[in-house]
Amino acid sequence: MELLPKSETIALREKYLSPSCDLFFRKDPLKIVRGKGQYMYDELGNAYLDCINNVAHVGHCHPTVVKAGCEQMALISTNNRFLHDNIVLCAKRLIATMPSNLSVCFFVNSGSEANDLALRLAQIHTGNTDIITLDGAYHGHLTSTIDISPYKLNMPGGPPKKDFVHIAPLPDSYRGKYRDSTYGEDEIGHLYAEDVKDICKNIQDKGKGVCAFIAESLLSCGGQIIPPKNYFREVYQHVRAAGGICIADEVQVGFGRVGDHWWAFQTHGDDVIPDIVTLGKPMGNGHPVSAVITTRAIAESFKKTGVGYFNTFGGNPVSCAIANAVLDVIEEENLKQNALEVGTYLKNACEKLRLQHKVIGDVRGAGLFVGVELVTDQIQRLPAKEIATYVVSRMKEERVLLSSDGPEENVIKFKPPMVFSKENVDTVMLLLNRVLLEVKDIPNLCGVEKSTDLITGKGPLSIKKQVNEQVKCI
Ligand code: PMP
Repeated sequence: MELLPKSETIALREKYLSPSCDLFFRKDPLKIVRGKGQYMYDELGNAYLDCINNVAHVGHCHPTVVKAGCEQMALISTNNRFLHDNIVLCAKRLIATMPSNLSVCFFVNSGSEANDLALRLAQIHTGNTDIITLDGAYHGHLTSTIDISPYKLNMPGGPPKKDFVHIAPLPDSYRGKYRDSTYGEDEIGHLYAEDVKDICKNIQDKGKGVCAFIAESLLSCGGQIIPPKNYFREVYQHVRAAGGICIADEVQVGFGRVGDHWWAFQTHGDDVIPDIVTLGKPMGNGHPVSAVITTRAIAESFKKTGVGYFNTFGGNPVSCAIANAVLDVIEEENLKQNALEVGTYLKNACEKLRLQHKVIGDVRGAGLFVGVELVTDQIQRLPAKEIATYVVSRMKEERVLLSSDGPEENVIKFKPPMVFSKENVDTVMLLLNRVLLEVKDIPNLCGVEKSTDLITGKGPLSIKKQVNEQVKCI
């Protein structure tokens, strides 16, 4: 429902909201008034195919989830210092999806809060303070999590890196320091893991131990990167040998998105088991509910401090009713299987497109987590940020919502609601092919030259589309 004309919404937002609040397509923002499945609708009733919303995991406004929330809201919503069945059932169900030693659950309200609590648990359990994080990673907007998010630290104007934070290179075999053009997968995984080993050694050489290594299980903010198979196994060994624990951030990639497992860390092998797993975004299908799952030993270390844990909203009966409904829908609608089938279909379709368009340098993914890396030169792998910006902007005009990410902002991201279909893939591919053909016709975009003409719409180019600001979606 629209209460105000769009122009007034924009004016009020500019007047009353902080100017630093991110906005998709800032020059021509979308006003979304309702959603259903994999579609979002603007105030004029136009449908947009949503390829980026990993929050609306089981589809926007899924009736089962909406009903569960409404019914519980009409009964009681209070804090978890009272007993309630929803919270214990939700904890039991989440833990049933994890390896057996991950057996204790904390409920929080956001991914940032989950990672903050994970850091606190790690500090208490290990007695150490040094954190190893990956370059390009984002783990949240709290003071503690910004400190471990090079995604923000690396931005002009970003806060300075703290001494207790150590940044390891992204295990990126396409554009990173160890590439698939020179090394095999195992070698790449080993070399990147050795970099983490060196960081551990430097920390130990200063007479300290490692507190924690934190990483997304697949690196979404880093540019939809699938680390080499042996990477996490080796890294976890080095970190534990240096006294640290391992935190898997599943805020973006969890809840069956990878298709063949519940959690993305499970794709690295049965023996790759984190000490703490943080959950978020998809857990409430848009409702703020998140969790931290850890081992009994870590939970006991926290208990021994004698400081009780209380979180006003974390794990309230409404949030847990919603989280339980999300789990129900994933199971009842077989959405993991759908992610596997449609995700494979999507990756293959992108791969076909890669053979037709030199601008696509790499296609990678797992389930409905796919990245398409755009380059201006396939051999040198020069990042094509402007083309990515153009593609995202043009696809929006075609009513398909995509985003770009990665340190060079040249990776087109797919992380749609899990109800995404093969027909949706066909639609996107048809349009993407068309837009990439336009790119071919724009010499400045395909060459190394900067495409300022395209951005201003002025100059000699035949296509004078307005290009919105870069759309990053974290
Ligand atoms: N971790 C990752 C990997 C994320 O992508 C995000 C959010 N984009 C967060 C943590 C923080 O989650 P939230 O915005 O719910 O605080």
